[in-house]
Amino acid sequence: MTVQKKLIAGNWKMNMLHMDAAALAREVVAGADKAPCDLLLCPPSTLISWVAETASGSVVAVGGQDCHEADSGAYTGDVSATMVRDAGASHVILGHSERRHGLGETDERVRAKTEAAHGAGLVAIVCIGETEEQRDAGETLNVLSSQLDGSLPTGDNGFAVNGKDTVIAYEPVWAIGTGRTPTVDEVQAAHGHIRAHLTASLGEQAEDIRILYGGSMKPENAADLLAIENVDGGLIGGASLSADSFLAIADAAPA
Ligand code: PEP
Repeated sequence: MTVQKKLIAGNWKMNMLHMDAAALAREVVAGADKAPCDLLLCPPSTLISWVAETASGSVVAVGGQDCHEADSGAYTGDVSATMVRDAGASHVILGHSERRHGLGETDERVRAKTEAAHGAGLVAIVCIGETEEQRDAGETLNVLSSQLDGSLPTGDNGFAVNGKDTVIAYEPVWAIGTGRTPTVDEVQAAHGHIRAHLTASLGEQAEDIRILYGGSMKPENAADLLAIENVDGGLIGGASLSADSFLAIADAAPA
């Protein structure tokens, strides 16, 4: 088992024009050396190459927010995993709830995209999480198992993923952008369940797969969330749009 630093990843979503992004990326890069964790910025596709250039030579990695499963072709408006990689990214977020629920993206599609990401040499950050309705119905853990089963590539012996090519992000849909977070016990139960589900397929290699928590993480709650067992980092939306709050979250990560 490899002991890894926590990973703090910023999902800028559909925010930022070049000038603001320039300042934000530079500030994050300037503060990155002091962070006790790995840092990743996921800007919109239009800014990947520019942010990658700004981060070049620093410890800050760059990721995309989605990719198409095909390598090229007549898919107007989409970008392929190879293009995301070519633009300078090392990671890509897949299956974010804003795509699953806003754009009808299925587990099957997320799996195909994950395979494409791996084929292009990208680390896939596969997002899973229950809706409020599913939570209220007591279905959270079943939903997580089913999303893992449907969204991760599989081979003859179970999941065909490892800690170098895949990160899981647990993001309760009702916690994203709402200011609400699950209790420590709920996060611990969800992350423990994800770890156990991965372990049932991968054995002890599952320990190498980072499981991020995402959903209204901010400087005020980051230390508590990042201290929970099996929480290997955070996927940060709103609070990643300010270098001060993003770096404050990173500073809260136990080394
Ligand atoms: C996200 O969109 O991945 C996210 C976690 O957003 P926020 O931090 O704003 O809740």
